[in-house]
Amino acid sequence: MSARIAFIGLGNMGGPMAANLVKAGFAVAGFDLSETSREQARAAGVTIAETAEDAAAGAEMIVTMLPAGRHVLAVWGSLVTVAKPETLMIDCSTIDVESARKAHALAADHRLHSIDAPVSGGTGGASAGTLTFMVGGTSEAFAKAEFVLQAMGKKIVHCGNPGSGQAAKICNNMILGISMTAVAEAFVLAEKLGLSHQALFDVASTSSGQCWSLTSYCPVPGPVPASPANNDYRPGFAAALMLKDLKLSQEAAEASGAATPLGAHAAALYEAFDKDGNGSQDFSAIIKHIRHLKD
Ligand code: NAD
Repeated sequence: MSARIAFIGLGNMGGPMAANLVKAGFAVAGFDLSETSREQARAAGVTIAETAEDAAAGAEMIVTMLPAGRHVLAVWGSLVTVAKPETLMIDCSTIDVESARKAHALAADHRLHSIDAPVSGGTGGASAGTLTFMVGGTSEAFAKAEFVLQAMGKKIVHCGNPGSGQAAKICNNMILGISMTAVAEAFVLAEKLGLSHQALFDVASTSSGQCWSLTSYCPVPGPVPASPANNDYRPGFAAALMLKDLKLSQEAAEASGAATPLGAHAAALYEAFDKDGNGSQDFSAIIKHIRHLKD
């Protein structure tokens, strides 16, 4: 099956995702405000349009991969007026649930199908085509989207109604932010108690403290050679992006009346770390902030 796809937002994630669509044989027309992003995508076989609207004209599917909810609503607001009826709109950005639902409503008002389909897997997963997609939308829209998402990802999960993909994404990343700070605290305490990093790792990685933040992304150098701690905390997943996702989960908790005290605490820790100018470090570098809280 093939389709004409428009791709708006060709940055660190969108660029390699669009390149994978080209590799899979789709005709991809793209647009980005940044010239560097446009040129990189052009080199990967994406046809670069003059505007987002030009890219979307005649497309059967429109994918957006943009920084935040306000960008998605602005871009969708103009694209829904040029898209032909029945076009499938796919937003892969990580945005707040409320904006995601507004975007779905915009699409429905113009007789378009839509899904929210945020991803996990980072830039490595985007390049390798191994992203996980968390999809919110009707079963009909999901069925239309699945073969396109398969060209960019390895695991595609239909989470439920419109907005459910974003809900799954922020819940998952709240777990991640909390678990990373918990693992970091344990290593800081171990240091004070004279316990070696390796000894704590050997015990906790095979005990009830085991989790992804410890075994795949260990915040101290040594035990997990591929973790950013061994590469001077270069991301990986930047602390600023973790802060963004933790704020989204706090907004959602506030709006829905859920109690998320540990999520709130993790958000405050990342906010302080970011304010100190560390937003571009990997999020596992939060251990450096925790280590100095008692100084
Ligand atoms: P990025 O900043 O590299 O890319 C965003 C792109 O959108 C930029 O190239 C920018 O020029 C473009 N853009 C902004 N407004 C535009 C507009 N009106 N029209 C056209 N282009 C526009 O960001 P990214 O790392 O690719 O992240 C994109 C989204 O994916 C974010 O929501 C982020 O939270 C999410 N995400 C990122 C990662 C990651 O590891 N980088 C992982 C999962 C999810």
